[in-house]
Amino acid sequence: MSEKYPKLRAELEGVPTYKPGKPAATGGPAAFKLSSNENPYPPLPGVMEQAIAAAGTFNRYPDMACTGLMNELSERFGVPLTHLATGTGSVGVAQQLLQATSGPGDEVIYAWRSFEAYPIITQISGATSVKVPLTDGEVHDLDAMADAITDRTRLIFVCNPNNPTGTVVRRAELERFLDRVPSDVLVVLDEAYREFIRDAEVPDGVEIYRDRPNVAVLRTFSKAYGLAGLRVGFAVAHEPVAAALRKTAVPFGVSQLAQDAAVASLRAEDELLGRVGSLVGERARVVDALRGQGWTVPETQANFVWLRLGEKTMDFAAACEAAGVVVRPFAGEGMRATIGETEANDIFLKTAEAFRKEL
Ligand SMILES: *Cc1c(COP(=O)(O)O)cnc(C)c1O
Repeated sequence: MSEKYPKLRAELEGVPTYKPGKPAATGGPAAFKLSSNENPYPPLPGVMEQAIAAAGTFNRYPDMACTGLMNELSERFGVPLTHLATGTGSVGVAQQLLQATSGPGDEVIYAWRSFEAYPIITQISGATSVKVPLTDGEVHDLDAMADAITDRTRLIFVCNPNNPTGTVVRRAELERFLDRVPSDVLVVLDEAYREFIRDAEVPDGVEIYRDRPNVAVLRTFSKAYGLAGLRVGFAVAHEPVAAALRKTAVPFGVSQLAQDAAVASLRAEDELLGRVGSLVGERARVVDALRGQGWTVPETQANFVWLRLGEKTMDFAAACEAAGVVVRPFAGEGMRATIGETEANDIFLKTAEAFRKEL
């Protein structure tokens, strides 16, 4: 049997599969998807018009350099073009960072539990994952992460806010951590939920990276900007790292549709951030209500909430689904629910309340 098929890299064996958030049921009662941290709002009007116009050019390859989007980002963040790189979602960019830094024998450090793409893309690179448990408060244990650095460490992910717990690391502790990281180790600040942060003590990675050549920041259009389906994200990093990202990019990976919609979204930012503000308001309402029901909810700065349910996790997820909302369970650990439409959040809260009474 073995000689019948092409030889594949041994690293691929046992790569965990990425579990996409389960879609909402169709045809049944009201069903809402709160399982992938998507934005519940449809694209802004200007965005749709750009997208439709771009659809007229589908016979052509996209602008490989993403010129329009790169110019817009450069201006917005006050960073040179040479410090920017775009990719097929920020997961695509994260994978390129691993390709550029890590291989067999190297180590990649990240908190656990954190974003489920990290173990997958690390294993594919051939490097070894070093998972550092979150603290009891569900926060990155930056001291333990710094202690885990060895001569083999090539890359460290800091997910801020952390998916799936929503917890953050603040300026002073992050600076102290970065001071301990050797200058030849890349620290990736994954800020997929940056726009939802309201805690002034959480630093903006784009400020942190400026005088730290070993820091790269990942941002995405998938969450607050509501373009998850278009697959576009980017990194802000110093020149050698950004150049390595351009080398490792899939040619023409970011479609013209995605590029033009991203530019239009940035230009509609006021309205977009207004929507984000509404979601932040909903977040406070949901967290307060859950705490009022007696749940322990870690402070979240993202567009989701985390409940550590242990053995009850799958039962809770099933109860939510039966009630019409799909959440994201991690069996034996807990569940993450996205802050969605008010109606969806209400169904989630009602289910949580009933479940709590049964405990
Ligand atoms: C959703 C998410 C991303 C974004 O992924 P895209 O590939 O940009 O859609 C990146 N990091 C984290 C932690 C996320 O939760």
